[in-house]
Amino acid sequence: MFFFYNGEDMRASRLACLTALLGVVTLSAQRVDPVDRPKEPMNTIAEQYVKLVLAVGQHDADYVDSFFGAPEWKAEAERQKRSLAEIDSEAERLIGRMPELSAAEQRDPLFALRRDYLRRQLASLRARVQMLQGRKLTFDEESQALYDAVAPVHPDAYFQATIDELARLLPGGGPLVERFDAFRQKFVIPSDRLGRVFDRAIAECRTRTLPHVRLPDTESFTVEYVTNKSWSGYNWYQGDFRSLIQVNTDLPIYIDRAVDLACHEGYPGHHVYNALLEKNLVKDRGWIEYTVYPLFSPQSLIAEGTANYGIEVAFSKPDRLAFEKDVLFPIAGLQSARAAEYYEVLDLVDRLSYAGNEAARQYLDGKMDRAATVAWLEKYAMYTRPRAEQRVKFIEQYRSYVINYNLGKDLVRAYVERKMGREKTSQRRWREFTALLMSPRLPSGLK
Ligand SMILES: [Zn+2]
Repeated sequence: MFFFYNGEDMRASRLACLTALLGVVTLSAQRVDPVDRPKEPMNTIAEQYVKLVLAVGQHDADYVDSFFGAPEWKAEAERQKRSLAEIDSEAERLIGRMPELSAAEQRDPLFALRRDYLRRQLASLRARVQMLQGRKLTFDEESQALYDAVAPVHPDAYFQATIDELARLLPGGGPLVERFDAFRQKFVIPSDRLGRVFDRAIAECRTRTLPHVRLPDTESFTVEYVTNKSWSGYNWYQGDFRSLIQVNTDLPIYIDRAVDLACHEGYPGHHVYNALLEKNLVKDRGWIEYTVYPLFSPQSLIAEGTANYGIEVAFSKPDRLAFEKDVLFPIAGLQSARAAEYYEVLDLVDRLSYAGNEAARQYLDGKMDRAATVAWLEKYAMYTRPRAEQRVKFIEQYRSYVINYNLGKDLVRAYVERKMGREKTSQRRWREFTALLMSPRLPSGLK
């Protein structure tokens, strides 16, 4: 899971898990299937699903984002190298064998979420496999099939109003993107201060997260600085509550990226999300399907959406500005006096995030060529030429994945706000956000 731009009682869970396992055993022993299509226990389907994801990984190097289950299953996938046709028909078969929920399972909403999620992840796997076999989908068909969501379409005029506002904040001659770039140069973190700035941002995000989220004591992560990637940051989850986080230093890193990346990849973003899934679903309930994470699947919309929304959960706007001014700007050697102005401009640019989706849609649907897409990103998304080129490389590699960041964030925000009801407190926001992190909810289930 990467970044491009821009309390449930645990003892109760374990009890529910035991009850459920017993329920599954009884159910499969008693069932007489009315349509002569035998069902299988959920745990058997989950195991087959993990093996299918690993099998797709043999054909698509980006597919398996993380796997921390039995190493021999991975070795088996490598040895077998099942064909795409075989994988597709096995996934279809498993979807047809999903069991009904037992009476005990029906009392715990997580079981229905689990079943629906597993079924939808399998359907998404079939879509990816068919794409690898040459099936052509439009951008929107693809995002629906893979991520269970479709991004809204915005006309040029939608972005123009924001661009006009931005032009007033950044007066002068020449193209607006160049004025924005010149303005932004003053907020680059000097490379010799990068490590200190990131370390401090990560510590702050962790301090803000820990009082609200019950994390395993042994959780930790390592940060590495890398080059020559199409993304700007990546969390490689290793299992056992550990993450490897990589930060790409190909392009200058602006000061806002420190908190953004620390939250998104770390706390309360991907690292926390993965650790909570492992703790609550894999270790406590024995739901083995969460030992694997297929990148091109609905799970990514939830992962990226929660990682991006988590920045707002950890920092209100005034909190963030105060932290940047008082702590991060001085460590980076930047002028704190300009922090408010900087974030005012960035808030406007953030409103252009859907221009990135439009560019990807037009480009992948063959309505704009590469050069036109780069030019569109410069004009409507405020990407400088090198960033626009990096973005197009990202679109070529990850395709409709781009919707997971901004649409994901908007869907997650709307869901959490709705669950909060009228209790608009920070505590309540954390509670609803954490509950979402710990449960297998589909993007379509956020609506
Ligand atoms: Zn991410």
